[in-house]
Amino acid sequence: MTDKIIIEDLECFGYHGVLAEEKKLGQKFLISMELSVDTTLAAETDACKDTVDYSRICSQVKDLVQEEVYDLIETLAEQIARKILHSFSSVTMLQVTVKKPWAPLMTSLGTVGVQITRGWHRVYLGVGSNIGDSKGTIEKAALLLSRHKDIRNLRLTSLISTKPYGVKDQPDFVNGAIYLETILEPKALLRITQSIEKEMGRERKQHWGPRTLDLDILFFDDRISDDPQLLLPHPEIPKRDFVLAPLTELNPYLIHPVYRKQVSELLDDLTRKASYEKTLA
Ligand code: AMP
Repeated sequence: MTDKIIIEDLECFGYHGVLAEEKKLGQKFLISMELSVDTTLAAETDACKDTVDYSRICSQVKDLVQEEVYDLIETLAEQIARKILHSFSSVTMLQVTVKKPWAPLMTSLGTVGVQITRGWHRVYLGVGSNIGDSKGTIEKAALLLSRHKDIRNLRLTSLISTKPYGVKDQPDFVNGAIYLETILEPKALLRITQSIEKEMGRERKQHWGPRTLDLDILFFDDRISDDPQLLLPHPEIPKRDFVLAPLTELNPYLIHPVYRKQVSELLDDLTRKASYEKTLA
């Protein structure tokens, strides 16, 4: 979807800047925004209620620029993006440009500015537990995530009981998956999932060992990352039926961005492979 509503060079007055003079005297800021919105319904009905009211966006942005005070235009741009994404649910993504035409520099220039792109990301998490009240722990973790201000539309799958993977000598696991939308970037979401694991009493003693709660980021949009701190998609997805089955429950058509196959196909592949191996044993 590529429809956009475009606002260019909205004039605002504010007191942002590192210098004391900027905070005292204030200055002009020019704000431009490109909002990704599906405009097809509004085009059919010709009704303002079916689109994003850009006059409301302008007045909210003007108020924010005037009322808040930040040192950096990076922070100002971030806060504008957050405000719009939270207030106008049909905006899925937006680009914000903040320019300072009167930047206090000992040189002549047109404007200086920053440009950022932010949006609602579609995320799938894997959840597992095999110590204590596993079902209760997973449901509590889902509730904590759903209450986070930067997360919306969370769905938890049904929970399944599975044999341990990797280290066999440990109790059975309860597994499931979560779908959510977030404006957080991947590492910020990882910090949150890790803090929830900790809150639920998880200690990292043994790789693939028993745990009160394990939260893995399986897919983050269709991003691919080889950063060992956050591998995306999670590398174990195609090998784990207890991950692929809940993912298939959430969205059978979801496509793995590396293997270019639907999760339901990956599950079929794995089931076929397991039954073939059984015939060999
Ligand atoms: P585990 O014990 O399986 O929960 O592994 C946790 C470690 O894996 C942490 O140090 C994470 O930074 C790292 N990690 C790498 N990729 C991911 C991912 N996609 N989701 C969660 N943790 C990840």
